[in-house]
Amino acid sequence: MPQNNDAPNFEVLHMPPENTNSVLVTRGNDAVIFDAWGQVADWEKLLTARGLRLRAIYSTHGHGDHIAAAPMLAEKYNIPWFLNSEDDVLISWSNNLLKYFGLPEIENDYRRPTDLESGTIEILPGVFADVIESPGHTPGGVMYYFPEFGILLTGDTLFRDSCGRYDLPGGDANALMQSISKLYEMNLPDETYVVHGHGVDSTIGMMKTENPYFK
Ligand SMILES: [Zn+2]
Repeated sequence: MPQNNDAPNFEVLHMPPENTNSVLVTRGNDAVIFDAWGQVADWEKLLTARGLRLRAIYSTHGHGDHIAAAPMLAEKYNIPWFLNSEDDVLISWSNNLLKYFGLPEIENDYRRPTDLESGTIEILPGVFADVIESPGHTPGGVMYYFPEFGILLTGDTLFRDSCGRYDLPGGDANALMQSISKLYEMNLPDETYVVHGHGVDSTIGMMKTENPYFK
């Protein structure tokens, strides 16, 4: 029997300038990034220092603070960048925000994202995530749930004690509330570890007591 000495590792990273929660998932030397905020050079430095091979990038949605380094990293490493195609229209809108943070703008010849389907995806060999479509904050927003590891990435659909904005381009308050109630009704275990797009992490149980929108 093979030993399970290469269990995947999940890590929340706050790349400079600190704003967005990125999640690095590794198994052995292979890595994927969720919400690649920050600069390509900083990610390269980190990947090189740890001897990691970047395999893919996933975004929870198409706002600039969740895709910032994705197009250029995907180009550099010749790997796919997955984004629900409903959010493709938001990409060009990202540059104002990136400029505000002093980050490089996304150029016209950027690496196009690959559409993300809902259902179960294998992000690294033997590491599966359920893609939960969660429109409302943006039309193509998704959450990623790792049932085997009890981890949920909500993007900006939900925070520990509030919900995402619905007044930005593509936002829809009704759709957001429906996405949140769909998650609530999935009845995930209270101890499920939740990483949000911004701010502190939580659990499903914490959100049940601290988040008035989570119902
Ligand atoms: Zn957002």
